[in-house]
Amino acid sequence: MARIVMKFGGTSMAGTERIRRVAGIVKRQQEAGHEVAVVVSAMAGETDRLVNFCREANALYDRAEYDVVVAAGEQVTSGLLALHLQALGCKARSWLGWQLPVHTDDAHAAARIEDITSDALLASMAAGEIAVIPGFQGLDPEGRVTTLGRGGSDTSAVAVAAAVQADRCDIYTDVDGVYTTDPRIVAKARKLKYVTYEEMLELASVGSKVLQTRSVSLAMKEGVRVQVLSSFIDESAPPADSIPGTMIVSDEELEGTEMERQLITGIAADKNEAKVTLTRVADRPGAVAAIFGPLAEANINVDMIIQNIAKDKGETDVTFTCPQADLARTQALLEERKDTIGYYRMIADSKVAKVSVVGVGMRSHAGVAATMFKALADRGINIQAISTSEIKVSVLIDSDEVELAVRVLHTAYGLDAA
Ligand code: ADP
Ligand code: ASP
Ligand code: MG
Repeated sequence: MARIVMKFGGTSMAGTERIRRVAGIVKRQQEAGHEVAVVVSAMAGETDRLVNFCREANALYDRAEYDVVVAAGEQVTSGLLALHLQALGCKARSWLGWQLPVHTDDAHAAARIEDITSDALLASMAAGEIAVIPGFQGLDPEGRVTTLGRGGSDTSAVAVAAAVQADRCDIYTDVDGVYTTDPRIVAKARKLKYVTYEEMLELASVGSKVLQTRSVSLAMKEGVRVQVLSSFIDESAPPADSIPGTMIVSDEELEGTEMERQLITGIAADKNEAKVTLTRVADRPGAVAAIFGPLAEANINVDMIIQNIAKDKGETDVTFTCPQADLARTQALLEERKDTIGYYRMIADSKVAKVSVVGVGMRSHAGVAATMFKALADRGINIQAISTSEIKVSVLIDSDEVELAVRVLHTAYGLDAA
């Protein structure tokens, strides 16, 4: 007998028929002799709908109230799945974030899980009851509802798996594993049998939304075994133990397999970035700190940063990227501090996308970036910014060209399926 946490994403939970199918998958897993807990997302599109209501109320909405609104989507699906499980004759009940509770910090809209009290969950599972937990939501130290950032149900699932010391955390989604790139963009993408935590972390952080970044770092830290697999399997399919999804494994585990290491593991694109340029910033110590300090305090994640070398005037342009969802707040914060920072003009551009190639093989191979730049240049794609890490190269391009860029790179690195 194993203890398994199963997580179902938005597409899998979108409507009565799909929730009924999910209930069937969960029931079969329990019937295979396992203890199960389930983490669910809101129905596909629901969180976007709720976010829009907040934006319509106020572009610079209060993030604590935003959390109250957007956490509602998962409350609905957790109750519905418990009802469907009961209809199939299973013992099931929902456990909302505040009921367990899932303790988080108070960074509303991007909260971090600190701890999950697992006593009630363990008792419920031991009694043969299926615990259904809404993903994405938690409780801050002041007793207010928090949410974990978009895609956060993956992180809820991994955190629950760590808290109950599950043997595995199965992430059921609308694709049957992690591919070399988004299979919806590149038909020739190949499914990966294994991906290392490190590579998955990098892929997620540059836009492969199949897993939320924090879920991967948490799984790596807590040693949770994560599998990505499809919930769109037919009723008679065997339980997950025999369905080959993608396993997220440690480097050592991968070495124990027959898998050949590829130079590049995958390619990711992120269209949710925005580019901000401040012109004629004073070229003096502290100027950059005056820009990025307030953004960090406001929990705004700045990614690529370019500062041109000042010419003779002692002034320079500073360009950076931030999530589009934070652009309004970024602009407001920098506008307020225009005099302190001392810049001339702020220019924002949301029509950008970041394309990245990821692979641990890069550590020992030169020329990965050069191949990327050449492949893009050959198709006339202009690069606006570049950033690199040990196992990744990212470029910022016009968002209209993102799909072409991903396809071209997928071919250039020899990743296309035969
Ligand atoms: P869920 O609602 O189940 O959480 P998401 O939409 O968050 O699902 O994530 C699944 C989606 O991630 C897929 O439909 C696919 O379009 C996208 N995706 C992006 N990159 C990859 C990749 N490398 N492998 C598989 N799917 C990917
Ligand atoms: N419903 C949330 C979102 O759409 C969380 C999740 O689906 O993981 O971002
Ligand atoms: Mg998701």
